[in-house]
Amino acid sequence: MQTGASDRPETAARAAAREAQDLAEALAAPVPDAVPGESVEPRDAPVRKIIHVDMDAFYASVEQRDNPELRGKPLAVGGSAARGVVAAASYEARVFGVHSAMASVTAKRKCPDLIFVKPRFEVYRAVSQQIREIFAEYTPLIEPLSLDEAYLDVTENLKGMEIATEIAAEIRARIFAATGLTASAGISYNKFLAKMASDQRKPNGQFVITPKNGPAFVEALPVKKFHGVGPATAERMKKHGIETGLDLKTKPLAYLQQHFGKSGAYFHGIARGIDERRVRPDRIRKSVGAEDTFSEDISDLVLAEAELRPLAEKVWRYCEAHDITGKTVTVKIKYADFTQATRARTLAANFARIDDVLEVADQLLATVHPFRRPVRLLGVTLSSLTTNGASPDTSEEPQLDLGL
Ligand SMILES: [Mg+2]
Repeated sequence: MQTGASDRPETAARAAAREAQDLAEALAAPVPDAVPGESVEPRDAPVRKIIHVDMDAFYASVEQRDNPELRGKPLAVGGSAARGVVAAASYEARVFGVHSAMASVTAKRKCPDLIFVKPRFEVYRAVSQQIREIFAEYTPLIEPLSLDEAYLDVTENLKGMEIATEIAAEIRARIFAATGLTASAGISYNKFLAKMASDQRKPNGQFVITPKNGPAFVEALPVKKFHGVGPATAERMKKHGIETGLDLKTKPLAYLQQHFGKSGAYFHGIARGIDERRVRPDRIRKSVGAEDTFSEDISDLVLAEAELRPLAEKVWRYCEAHDITGKTVTVKIKYADFTQATRARTLAANFARIDDVLEVADQLLATVHPFRRPVRLLGVTLSSLTTNGASPDTSEEPQLDLGL
C-alpha cells in the first residue's frame, strides 16, 4: 500500500514534492490524532500532567560511559566514510557545530579532532529497555518517540505522586543511578509543551511550563523551534510573515488550513498552547518510506541503483533509531511522464541488515529495466513493521514518509 505524493494528480507534482518534504519534517512530529480549535477545547477537563523525558546526547553519552578515553572529547557516533552520516554528537562536538544527520565529511571539516565511533545499537536498545522499565513503575501511559525519548502521562500515576516535577526529578535520578547517563525532562499540560520544555535546561536539567505561562511561552518562541515545524515549513511560514508563536496566533484557522493543509489545525492549536493529542502507548507505524525527485531524469540502471542507496539508508537509520524492522520492501518508480510503477517483495523473516534491503530493492528495480520512460523519482519503503517486544501494527498510525 503505497500512499503519498504519487496518488495526486500529475499536474500537482510540484506541490506533492513539497508536501513530501513537509512529511519528512513530520519525522519529529507525528500528525496529531485530534487537534481542536479553541472552540472545542473541553473547559472542565482536568489538567493533564505530561512529562517528556529525553536522554542527553544519547548514543554519544553511552559511548563515553563505556570508554573512558572518549570522555571530554568531541565524538560522533556514525560512519566516517565518504557517505557516512553523524547519528549523534557529544556535547564537546556540538560546540563546533556538529549535529546529528550531518554528513560526516562536513562534521570532520567543522571539527578536525572529531572522533568517530561505530554505533552499537544492541547496547542502546538495552539501555532504552532499562529506562522504559523505570518509566513503567510510574505509569503505563508511555509513548516512546525513539530509543532515547518518551512521553509519559502521569496525571494518574502508580506512585500516587501529586507533583509532576517531583516525578520527573525522581525518574531522572533513577535513570542516572541505573545507567550512569543523564536525562533531561520537560513537564507540562500537553505533549507539545512538554517536548518544548525538555530542551530548555539540557543537559541534565528539567523545566516546567504551567497552564498559566504556556501561552506566553509559545508566543515568544520562534516557530522554527516548534516541534512539527521543520526547515521547509519554517521557510514557508516566514513567507507568510510568521516567525514567532505570536505571529502564528494572529492567523485564522482557515488561513492556516489553506496554506499548510492538514497541519494547519495543529499549528492553530499549538500557537495557543493547545494540544489535545493523547499519550499513546501503542503507537507504531505501518511503514517507513523515503523518496527523492531527481534534478535530471535517469535512464541508466546503475545510476538509478546509486540513488536507491541513500533512500534505503535513510529508512534503515530511522528504523534502527526507533527499534523497528520489517519484512516488505517496496520500490516506487515515477517516470518522466508522471506514470508510475511499484514493485514489492515480502521476505519470510524481518530484514536484519541494510545490505539485504538494498539487494532486494535493486532486484525490484531491475525488473522494470529497461525503463519505459526516464525516471524522475524513486522511493523505497519498508513495511510489515514490527517493534522489539510489540505485536505487528494494528493502530491507525499513518505511514511515515522521509524525504531527502
Ligand atoms: Mg535525546
